[in-house]
Amino acid sequence: MKPLGPIPSGFSAIDGELAIAGYKATALVERAGGTPLFVYSRDLLTQRVAALRAAMPARLALHYAVKANPFGPVLQHMAGLVDGFDIASGGELAIVQAVGIDPARVSFAGPGKRDSELEAAIMAGATLNLESEGEAGRVLGIAHRLGLTPKLAIRVNPEFDLKGSGMKMGGGAKPFGIDEDRVPAIARRLISEGADWRGFHIFAGSQALSADAIIDTQRQTLDLAARLAEEAGVALPKCNIGGGIGIPYFPGDEPVDIVKVGAALAGHFADLPDVLRETDFVMELGRYLVGEAGVYLAQIVDRKESHGEVYLVTDGGLHHQLAASGNFGTVVRRNYPSAIATRFGEAVAEEASIVGCLCTPLDRLADKGGFPRADVGDLVAIFCAGAYGASASPAMFLGQGPAREMLV
Ligand SMILES: *Cc1c(COP(=O)(O)O)cnc(C)c1O
Repeated sequence: MKPLGPIPSGFSAIDGELAIAGYKATALVERAGGTPLFVYSRDLLTQRVAALRAAMPARLALHYAVKANPFGPVLQHMAGLVDGFDIASGGELAIVQAVGIDPARVSFAGPGKRDSELEAAIMAGATLNLESEGEAGRVLGIAHRLGLTPKLAIRVNPEFDLKGSGMKMGGGAKPFGIDEDRVPAIARRLISEGADWRGFHIFAGSQALSADAIIDTQRQTLDLAARLAEEAGVALPKCNIGGGIGIPYFPGDEPVDIVKVGAALAGHFADLPDVLRETDFVMELGRYLVGEAGVYLAQIVDRKESHGEVYLVTDGGLHHQLAASGNFGTVVRRNYPSAIATRFGEAVAEEASIVGCLCTPLDRLADKGGFPRADVGDLVAIFCAGAYGASASPAMFLGQGPAREMLV
């Protein structure tokens, strides 16, 4: 048997069924009109942000990285919890505007922003985090033509990266951000051309579970911001210090000690160089805020055996849960936390693999896990489905189409 990842806290059993926000899985499926279904818990989102705020210094503003989960009701709920939103495309700008989020609270990073996207962001009053000199030139030209003052920050490509992070976003050659040594000249140019200067964005990595690695990166980030601002001879109104706090997905993963991270950051803030004294600091997080608040529910449509192995074949699959199938940036496939939702808490009775309905061997949601005996009609639950699930999976593959989503 292969181990399963740790089921996040906040889920209970009612009448032997998985309950999400106090509702039984079968009741949620009935309400949604069927499976496959992503369910996100409002309470778990609220509790997560509250715990993070309690751990971090009050001076630190909190942004939500929309790409982790752009579902409208989730965004609307987050709008009441966080200070701002980070987007990565014109499509995400339209999504946040559609749910009524004030673009003044939005910053837009990401390589390859088209002129139409830059124009939409300038007109909306969102902050643009510039990824290259070429982009800086295009933005200034568009703003001049529109007769508007663009809000501009520079995304810095730091020389360091976040150790142990699942996705490295800094260190060496990268399509993201502007290399450190070229940043001061561009900062001076933006200011001299009359832009509304918004400071730096320094994002060194994602999905790290080590508090020490995060603390070390934050220290380096603040040092770098101070050094570049001094070299440029400019004040720093804002500094987005990135995020990178990960969540436990796999057997043996432990949650990040955010109290330790917050205490270290408070220490750094108490000891800032002059050039950063007046700076507003921002942390941006996606999966840490929403990942563990979501569950993916699918129904078993077939139970079969092949060469002595049991397969629970569901109506879901990698087209909604690419990451759980191990095909979204993982090197070695390991099991996400998963369970039989309609037999939640029952003892393990057999080894079984939960697979999807796609005709590819990649479509495996749990590999040789230990489960209670399940049959056709039972629901399976894949946890940690609140981030990079519905929106980061190839929903159109094999003509399947998107899953249902609901916030409860
Ligand atoms: C993807 C991304 C994030 C969010 O990463 P998480 O691991 O979901 O927290 C934040 N900032 C930037 C610039 C990103 O590209």
